Amino acid sequence: MESVVIVRYAEIHLKGKNRGYFERLFSVNLERALRGIRHELHRTSGRYLVEKFDEARADEIERKISRVFGVYSCSRGWLVPNDLGSIYEAAKRIAPSFGTFKVETHRADKKYPLTSMEVSAEIGGRLLSENRQLRVDVHEPENRVYIDVRENGTALVFGSFYEGAGGMPVGSSGTGLLMISGGIDSPVAGYMMAKRGLHVELLHFHSYPYTNEGAKEKVVTLSKILSEYSLTARLRTVSVTHIQEEIHKKCAEELNVTLLRRFMFRIAEKIATEIGAKCLVTGESLGQVASQTLEGLTSSGDVVRLPVLRPLIGFDKEEIIARAKKIGTFETSVLPFEDCCTVFLPEHPAIKPSLSFIEEEESKLDVESLVEEALGTVEVIPL
Ligand code: ATP
Ligand code: MG
Repeated sequence: MESVVIVRYAEIHLKGKNRGYFERLFSVNLERALRGIRHELHRTSGRYLVEKFDEARADEIERKISRVFGVYSCSRGWLVPNDLGSIYEAAKRIAPSFGTFKVETHRADKKYPLTSMEVSAEIGGRLLSENRQLRVDVHEPENRVYIDVRENGTALVFGSFYEGAGGMPVGSSGTGLLMISGGIDSPVAGYMMAKRGLHVELLHFHSYPYTNEGAKEKVVTLSKILSEYSLTARLRTVSVTHIQEEIHKKCAEELNVTLLRRFMFRIAEKIATEIGAKCLVTGESLGQVASQTLEGLTSSGDVVRLPVLRPLIGFDKEEIIARAKKIGTFETSVLPFEDCCTVFLPEHPAIKPSLSFIEEEESKLDVESLVEEALGTVEVIPL
């Protein structure tokens, strides 16, 4: 009897002519999620089977797979020869030890000597006679035992369905560059776009030595958690220290954040173009802070030509926090380290700065050479 994980996929079914492409990408993504764990992956009639793994790692395999976008559900089960004796041995391991249950059989092998109903009745009957604590309930059973009689002389026996991450295979929508801070919002934004099939590259701005190693470690940790979903391989960091100093020295204080954000977007666009990313992604949400008013969003979006995706734009903070908790980034996001935006934070940031005022203040800076200088500080951190 061999332990297996059954993986069912979701939205990729809908993609008509692209189906082959989606499925290939999906299996590549499954393999990437399972990298470093011995296993075999096989596609079989609209599902995948993970086989030949060390039983001790089954939980880990299941957890990793449930984070791959495109997975609709997965189940742990057993692969056995299709004789009733072997099926029964596996069913015993799946069946509960007390309470109500039902056996459901699906028969792909139409030449099998018993019908689906007969297999269910036979296996259900044996389970009942062996365990007096069990009862059959065909309408609302507390537990189900599923049996798939396959065409190749084997059968799959499995129980619960675990919900997968849903969405589309990462990469099927192209590549984008997420501006990731150490905050709550941006990792959630990255998760949401990866779920829609975007391959997410990561960019973080720091103000070392004003921000410290702890702040950087925090972003690396967040990136690693996100990468379990987005399958991202690296994080890029850029120093904006000199830019912040220049803004602080030369420009109106209330525009510090506004001007810094315009620099961030310019730098992000250059890096995106270099790595083939076709959009920028941020964790901005309308009205959340002074720089996220319509005027604030416009002033930063204005300096780039790439589209800026803001998946959280209509979300309340509470909703974002709930998602951060669900994906596992919240605890790290709330660790108290300074983000570069909080260094030189003005006491009263401009809430609705006019573009002419912004441009006038910005003209006091050598924008191009500051951007070039920042691009010289890129570091690539493998995740
Ligand atoms: P977050 O929780 O994502 O930090 P926030 O509510 O703190 O967001 P801001 O600090 O105004 O909001 O940042 C808005 C967005 O700008 C972030 O979601 C992120 O996409 C980007 N951003 C902010 N700071 C950085 C940074 N240091 N490096 C990269 N991107 C950043
Ligand atoms: Mg922030």
